[in-house]
Amino acid sequence: MKIIQSLPAFKRTIDALKRRRKTIGFIPTMGFLHEGHLSLVRRSKKENEITVVSIFVNPLQFGPFEDFKRYPRDLVRDRSLLEKERAELLFVPRAEDLYPADSQTSVSLKVITKPLCGISRPTHFNGVATVVMKLLNLARPDILYLGQKDYQQCRVIEQMIEDLNVPVTVRKVFTKRETDGLAMSSRNSLLSKPERAEASLIYNALQQCAQAVHSGERRAAKLKKDMKRVLTLASLGFLDYAEIVDAKTLADVVNLKKGDKVLAAVAVYFGETRLIDNILIKL
Ligand code: AMP
Repeated sequence: MKIIQSLPAFKRTIDALKRRRKTIGFIPTMGFLHEGHLSLVRRSKKENEITVVSIFVNPLQFGPFEDFKRYPRDLVRDRSLLEKERAELLFVPRAEDLYPADSQTSVSLKVITKPLCGISRPTHFNGVATVVMKLLNLARPDILYLGQKDYQQCRVIEQMIEDLNVPVTVRKVFTKRETDGLAMSSRNSLLSKPERAEASLIYNALQQCAQAVHSGERRAAKLKKDMKRVLTLASLGFLDYAEIVDAKTLADVVNLKKGDKVLAAVAVYFGETRLIDNILIKL
């Protein structure tokens, strides 16, 4: 696997691949890789000649009081995991190269960035959109792989790609879970043992919600109340939100109807560590 830090060297490598008409699959990550990330890599390996992974803890998507400094990092381990998966190219840009002091441009979306995580993280998704747009321009992939665990992020990026006519196909990959249902996340490593034990309640709440819908419950208010009731059992957790929204627009839903596709989405703080998860429900 080739590892590249400099932007010009990365561009030259991509240019050469493009000249040889290689198909490129791209997986942007913040590193500290786990099976969730690796499932995206495996999917890309199946569908493309070249799999490019980036590792960049993007300062732009963290708020001033968030966990940028604490975010787990282990490039040596990440590199060996990616080598085992036979990824062809690892891009590890430096923040000062991606964001030179004189840069002036950012990408911002008006609506889809506002609900759910956008309430407690008002600058987060514009930071995500900006870095992903830059990485897409550098990697020029045919297919971009995103995890459904970060569902709002998927929707933000899909909207940006549509709005800006970016020539790339998006593949959303199912959420990989631990055996107790907790969605895999680099941030899980920051949980204490008792917090980790309680964190499985997040998936319990989501599953119970899906179950209630399948049993005929249609009132979003009741579904949200029940999710919150389950989540209050996490005595070490602090609920950020438990919502039912339209799966495309992320707008609030009041009553679920036949044919609807909705998202049950949850965010819970354990100390400074914020965990998110969601489940798609088709009626
Ligand atoms: P991150 O390193 O957290 O920015 O994630 C990089 C990519 O991996 C994003 O597209 C995430 O949605 C995806 N991802 C993270 N966790 C999981 C998971 N448990 N299952 C599937 N994809 C995931």
